[in-house]
Order: sequence, then structure tokens, then C-alpha cells
Amino acid sequence: MKIGLVAHDAKKTLMQNFCIAYRSILAKHDIYATGTTGRLVESVTNLKIHKLLAGHLGGVQQLRTQIEQNEIDMVIFLRDPQTVADNEKNINQIVHVCDMHNIPMATNIATAELLIKALDRGDLEWREIYR
Ligand code: PGA
Repeated sequence: MKIGLVAHDAKKTLMQNFCIAYRSILAKHDIYATGTTGRLVESVTNLKIHKLLAGHLGGVQQLRTQIEQNEIDMVIFLRDPQTVADNEKNINQIVHVCDMHNIPMATNIATAELLIKALDRGDLEWREIYR
């Protein structure tokens, strides 16, 4: 499966810790991440990550295009709800396309844990048929 990862700045350490905790599951899949998120996760997990451009330089749009082209099976976008004005636009773009294409998406750590466990159980295998 192809998994998209993005974390707003205030959530980047949380994303690193999440990826350390679930490294063995993530290692079985293809990970795509916006530039900074990808670099930070790679540095602590040694996972091979397909790094897009930095979010503010077009990485979020690249991820959006991949979702529109049915190339992403699940998204974890750890959002910072406290700096809404700065971050609202990029999260909304991704929420919008995930909802258009029925892509499972988590925006907080609690849902991210549910999704990653579901992924490991095979609950997302319908995506393979759909693709
Ligand atoms: P980044 O992008 O991972 O490159 O920081 C995400 C964002 O802009 O919030």
C-alpha cells in the first residue's frame, strides 16, 4: 500500500515518534511524505521514504495530485489545530481530495493509530481491488 505522511511543524516530533513505534508495519509499505516531514521521519527510523517537495513549496499539491490519480491508499496528516490560519489551506486541500476519492485519512494521532493497525490487519485490502 502507498501511504502519505504530512505533519504540521508542531506535530513533526509526534510524527517521528509514531513512525518509530510503527516502523515494522510502515516498512512493509511505500511511504510518500512532504519534504521536511519525510526527512525527519527518515532520520529517526531509517525507513526509505519517497520525499515530495516541502509542503509550502508544492509538496502538498504533489500529494493531492497523487491522491487524485488514485496512487495513495491512506493518508496520515497530523494537523496542528492551534495555528489554523497558517495551516488551514493545505490540510483542507488534502481532506477534500481524500473525501472525493474515499481515501482513509487520519488528522490526529488517535485515528492514525486506528488506521495503521487496520492496515496491518489487512482491512485496507479493498484498495487493491479498487485500484
Ligand atoms: P513539510 O510540509 O513536511 O515539508 O514541512 C508540511 C507542511 O507544510 O506543513
